[in-house]
Amino acid sequence: MEKPRPDESVIQSLTDFVAEREWAQFHSEGNLAKSIAIEAGELLECYQWDDGEASDEVESELADVLTYGYLLAMKIGKSPAELILNKLEITRRKYPAEKARGTSRKYDQL
Ligand SMILES: [Mg+2]
Repeated sequence: MEKPRPDESVIQSLTDFVAEREWAQFHSEGNLAKSIAIEAGELLECYQWDDGEASDEVESELADVLTYGYLLAMKIGKSPAELILNKLEITRRKYPAEKARGTSRKYDQL
């Protein structure tokens, strides 16, 4: 049997976790979008007074952000990996490597 891709394994674990707790009723698109922003704030809080370094707390808050990102993607019927890869293709066209290499300028200023 083929080994599941990480994306599929995460999606299955999240699906089981939510179903076992009957939490899907709380997962409207808006609630999930708000949760992403709230958890992103908690991630930023890890760096509030200095730029510090990755820590257990950073890993935990990043996991929360990614979890709600996965849940929102699943809620709208999309694969998180596909969303990222599709957007990466758009960004790749917007920022051609030969123009964007080594600069942080916006695409319309390349
Ligand atoms: Mg958190």
